[in-house]
This record gives sequence, structure tokens and C-alpha cells, in this order.
Amino acid sequence: MKGRRGIWRKIDIRGDQTFGDLDRMIRISFNLDTFDHLSEFYSGKKWYRSGFGIIKPIGQGEGANLRIDSIGIGTGSKFGYVYDFGSEVHFYITAQQILEEELSDEDFPRVVSENKKKDYYCSDCAASGKKTIASLECYVCSEEMGKYVYLCDKCAESEKHEDHFMDDIME
Ligand SMILES: [Zn+2]
Ligand SMILES: [Zn+2]
Repeated sequence: MKGRRGIWRKIDIRGDQTFGDLDRMIRISFNLDTFDHLSEFYSGKKWYRSGFGIIKPIGQGEGANLRIDSIGIGTGSKFGYVYDFGSEVHFYITAQQILEEELSDEDFPRVVSENKKKDYYCSDCAASGKKTIASLECYVCSEEMGKYVYLCDKCAESEKHEDHFMDDIME
């Protein structure tokens, strides 16, 4: 994940599957929305110049039917993925290994490994000396403070964060 290199997934996918399939696996494995927001895979550094086609939720859109093996990916190939054209969550993708094997279509794509999950603590509780596991990130406060502000459910509902945009902690 761009900006948070410690957050990653290793995914196995077959060449005859599509970028729509990969999109869905990424969304599921990172706990992103599968029924809202556009996404797109792209080559190079600028997604709006070099996209492989827009993917709509639930596997629709021109980019969704593109086969994985149709764009000349080799070992070490790098490309990008952007989820949600509004908040622009970017991921770097590297093709680590290309296997020449016949595989059944069961269970692909699939996550084969991922970063170790760690506990995040509520910033507000910490300010009053308490250690409480956080479940949400307040994007407004993170932006204001210049660091990640995580909150427990209770603090997330406090007046201080009224109207603040929050989401599940990415991990
Ligand atoms: Zn709290
Ligand atoms: Zn806040």
C-alpha cells in the first residue's frame, strides 16, 4: 500500500483470470468496499495517464474483463492499482513469480500471505492515560495532526469527532 509499505498481501492468481478478479480479491483482502467506488490498474506512476480501464464494483467496467496474461507481465513486472478515485488509495503491485502450471479454477485468486496484524490504540484514550484497542481511523484528525489518529468505538462517537470522516483501520 502506497504510504504504508508495511501493509501488503501476496496473492496467487491464474493468467486466464481477469483484472476484475484481482480487483475483487484486493478489495476483500484489504477490507475495502466491494459494492461502491471505482478502481483501475495502471502501468507507470500516473494512473490517469496509463490505466488499463475502469473497473466498477461487482466486476463491471472495461477494465474488469482484461485477462491477467494479456498485458505481458513477467517476473518482476510492476504496476499499480488505485481504489476509489475520490480518496485515491494506491497500491504497488509486483509480479513476484510466474509459474507454468495447469491449475484448477478452484480457490483462485487467493491470498497466500499478508503482513502481520498489530494492535492500534485509541489516541483519545491514550491522552487520558488509558490503553484501548482502536478500530477506526479518523481521517480529519489524521490530516490535522499530521499523524494517524486511531479511535476506539466509544471515542469515535464523541462530539470531538462529530462529522469527521472515519473508516476501518487499514491493516
Ligand atoms: Zn477511546
Ligand atoms: Zn476526528
